[in-house]
Formats: sequence, C-alpha cells, structure tokens
Amino acid sequence: MIQPLLICTDLDRTLIPNGEQPESPQARPLFRQLVSHSQITLVYVTGRDQVLVQDAIAEYELPIPNFVIADVGSSIYEIKNNQWLRLTDWDNQISVDWQYKNQPDLVAFFTDFDHIKLQEITKQGLHKLSYYVSLDIELEPIITKIRAKLEAEKIQANIIWSIDEKAQIGLLDILPLSANKYHAIAYLMKKQNFTLDNTIFSGDSGNDLDVLMSPIKSILVANAHLEVKEIIQSKIEQTGLKDSIYIAQGQSSKLNGNYSAGILEGIFHYFPDLQIESKN
Ligand SMILES: [Mg+2]
Repeated sequence: MIQPLLICTDLDRTLIPNGEQPESPQARPLFRQLVSHSQITLVYVTGRDQVLVQDAIAEYELPIPNFVIADVGSSIYEIKNNQWLRLTDWDNQISVDWQYKNQPDLVAFFTDFDHIKLQEITKQGLHKLSYYVSLDIELEPIITKIRAKLEAEKIQANIIWSIDEKAQIGLLDILPLSANKYHAIAYLMKKQNFTLDNTIFSGDSGNDLDVLMSPIKSILVANAHLEVKEIIQSKIEQTGLKDSIYIAQGQSSKLNGNYSAGILEGIFHYFPDLQIESKN
C-alpha cells in the first residue's frame, strides 16, 4: 500500500529531459508507473502556459497530472477527465495583490513607457503582464520606473526577468506578489489536505528556489544549474534545511540522477517504501 502523496514537479529540465545531460532511458517509464498509483496526486509547476504544458505532455509522453500550476504560479488548473478547469478561487486570492485589477487594467499604466514592448496576446494572462525588452537596453532604469509606477498604484507585484536565449530577447513578467511556485503549492496542499509529511517538490533552476528553500521536502535534480547547486549547498550548511532538501547524485547506471531519474531518486530517499512498490 502506498500512502497518499502530493508529488509536485517543475517541467523543463526537471521532468522534461530538454537539457544537455543524458536521460536514463528507463527513468520516465518508471516515473509514469509510480505516479499512476491512485494514492498519488501529481502536480506540474511551471513557467509554461496551459497550451505549452499540453504540448509538452504530448511531445514527451508525460503522465496526465491532477493539477497544473502554470505561468510561474499565476494560474492553477485541475485536470479531470481531460478537462482543464481553472481554479478561480486562486485567481481571486492573488488578485488582492493587484487591487482586484487584471492584466488589461495594468497595461494601461505602462502605455507611454519606452523600451518595453507588449508580448503577444497568447503570452499574456489574467494575472500576468509580459513585455519584451531588447538585450541592448540597460535594464535597471526600466525596472525602477516600473516599480515606481506599480507602487504609486498600490500594486504589489513580482517583476521577473529572464532571457529567451533562442530569440535573443529579454522577457519581463509582472505578476501578483503572491503568485509564485511556493504559494501555489501551499494553496494546493491545504485544498487537498496534504501536509509537509506527504508533499514533495522537484526542480532545477532559479525560479524553483522559493520552493527548494522552503520547508517542503525538495529534490534538486543532478543536472541542475551549478549556481543553483551552490546556493542550495551553502543554505544546507548554514541552516537546518538538510532534512528538506535532497540533491540527486545518480544511484546506478539505470538511474543517473538527471531529470526524472533524479526525481525518483529523491522520492525513494524520502519514502524508501515506494522503491519496493515501484518494482512490483
Ligand atoms: Mg526547470
């Protein structure tokens, strides 16, 4: 018998093997087998939007999750009988940070701002305002100006900066302050009656840090960015975090610690009983 378990995982370069390191061929089939158990609630936690998550599920033959925390925490979906139901309760909670305003209301604040270009409509969300910024432009003054405007309008927001390496363009996302991976997972834990004892998260990069450094039992996959590994290592040394973070190393030639092999290694570390179950 498997106990109820909430397995939350990042997608890109965590469950999805789209990094440079090799994936163990048996890892994803084993992961699929483990999460198919009825006691397991599977959650994808990602910067991708709904369509890009659906693309990934099809392309990489990922198991259908029970929930998807998308757009870096600014939307949550429950998947039932292949229907994606948006949790409007979560939307309502995070909209408090934005004074109950939505993306179109916020667009109006920045129409006369230079150097930022609104992204396509498909990249925008109810609580996600996204701009392109050229990599040739100095970023700091732009962000300072945006922050000042948000403050003046009493909007509590997270400004997230990332780079689309392929397109060589900067991406600037404005989200409600509480719309992040950690808060979204905490919300689902409460909603589905899970505790710190039976919740697990796995990730690989900077936007996973809020969860990795939280009291939630976490797994850093072996292929994680070196700087994230170093941040986590020093945190482990400084604090008592060591019981809630596990860095996958690679267990065997079958499970090399990268991607889903690292997720499995971490799950077996926290829940040794599951290792036996998954072999049956
Ligand atoms: Mg990732």
